[in-house]
Amino acid sequence: MAPHTTARTRRPRGEGQWALGYREPLNPNERAKKDDPPLNVRARIENVYAHGGFDSIDPSDLRGRFRWFGLYTQRKAGVDGGRTATLEPEELEDRYFMLRVRVDGGALTTEQLALLGELAETYARDTADITDRQNVQYHWIRIEDVPAIWAKLEAAGLSTTEACGDSPRVILNSPVAGIAADEVIDGTPAVDEIRRRYVGDPAFANLPRKFKTAVSGLADVAHEIHDVAFVGVEHPEHGPGFDVWVGGGLSTNPMLGVRLGAWVPLEEVPDVWEGVVSVFRDYGYRRLRSRARLKFLVKDWGAEKFRDVLQTRYLGRELLDGPAPPVPEAPLDHVGVHRQRDGRYYVGAAPVAGRASGSMLIAAAKAAERAGSGRVRLTPQQKLVVLDVAEAELDGLCTALADAGLDPRPSPWRRSVMACTGIEFCKLAIVETKARARQLVDELEQRLVGIQAGLAHPVSVHLNGCPNSCARIQVADIGLKGQIVTDSDGRQVEGFQVHLGGGLGLDAGFGRKLRKHKVTATELTDYVERVVRNYLAGRADGERFAQ
Ligand code: SF4
Repeated sequence: MAPHTTARTRRPRGEGQWALGYREPLNPNERAKKDDPPLNVRARIENVYAHGGFDSIDPSDLRGRFRWFGLYTQRKAGVDGGRTATLEPEELEDRYFMLRVRVDGGALTTEQLALLGELAETYARDTADITDRQNVQYHWIRIEDVPAIWAKLEAAGLSTTEACGDSPRVILNSPVAGIAADEVIDGTPAVDEIRRRYVGDPAFANLPRKFKTAVSGLADVAHEIHDVAFVGVEHPEHGPGFDVWVGGGLSTNPMLGVRLGAWVPLEEVPDVWEGVVSVFRDYGYRRLRSRARLKFLVKDWGAEKFRDVLQTRYLGRELLDGPAPPVPEAPLDHVGVHRQRDGRYYVGAAPVAGRASGSMLIAAAKAAERAGSGRVRLTPQQKLVVLDVAEAELDGLCTALADAGLDPRPSPWRRSVMACTGIEFCKLAIVETKARARQLVDELEQRLVGIQAGLAHPVSVHLNGCPNSCARIQVADIGLKGQIVTDSDGRQVEGFQVHLGGGLGLDAGFGRKLRKHKVTATELTDYVERVVRNYLAGRADGERFAQ
């Protein structure tokens, strides 16, 4: 007789999937969402908290539901990164907020850009970073000012609804959608329709966790690391449409998305998006937040089962099979001066690691308007692109952007260094990132000025302040994950775990993480310089960094 074991008699634990009957919350986050739907918090902010001030805020709203409107408390100044994991929330958090404005597709008119700058000057101590999700992020926001900010944003067609939270976050789109000479198709109508139909819809406001969407006719939005992505592809019989990818995501268990092998025409993208997000809502894992992203379900099911469930239970029809999308030879960041398909030009300009300001945004809006443009786009590489510029206006625009701190002809280092928010404002951070990125760029520009012309493509260097991957460290040439490390004198200091050789597109894959491959913050520039010099000295003809 087989020995009687506890394992044999224990019922398998479910993953908290609603579709399998787990409707009772299995953790405090799920409980909070069930007890009071997150979108309800807006009325309390407007009617109670904005009048009562910070101390009137219910903690479950403060640290939970506020996110559905783009609000997080920011980190208290001076709290040491080594203590991040051990402190209580109230010891870490300031009485001010980070406020994220969703900019779907990164698309703004110059009036909207100027407004974002004015709001930063009025309410956010002139902070206004450009994020790698095409958003704008403010700091130093007082709860008392939030209703006035919303009113001004919404009057201009912008909002912070579901900029964070377990909800459909901002939808990425190609920064050059509709103007690029080589795009397969313009996905903008689908982006606009998804936003119009579903953002703020209570039916999709309680997802297991965040849900990231990318649409692009040009494969320039890091589609491999999204929960769902629609990538432009020409179908041999049906023409231009989109290839569907699901289940990508980074953070602590990075996974690349997988193709469903399905081709979708532009007008059907919103319906298919609804089907995919519904699968996530109903079958996504809700027991553990660490397993609640769509990627875990896709990993367990595989693409075939996922497509089958999507088709039979949600769409009620078969999707057409389709080919894989073309892969750009090099990552597209749209920096510099480029010709549009209508003969005019677009100009992509770089702040340093997304660090912008209200005054910078206002200056950029004015410069664009003086050059005859009414449109700008923010990019997934923390850059800003001015569209629709006549050739005669290019020199003046480039000079004005550079004067504003947005360089249209940046060095490879300024062009390719990205950084997350880091310890300056983020409660999860362990190390400083933005100021360190600035220092790194300045020093590399001086030290490597003689060899940068030898780089066919800039070497991407991404800095994260903690093990989360807001700056996509696993898919950078040199990815830097902030942590406390031991220096040569045995002291515990700020530093980074290095990931080497990650990439997207042709080189899609995660960087190698060698356990002992760590660098202190003070050694960072020396380290990057050494790696770049070694790469240039040892590469074969045309060999890219990740190869
Ligand atoms: Fe904060 Fe970590 Fe994200 Fe950086 S990576 S913004 S430190 S959560």
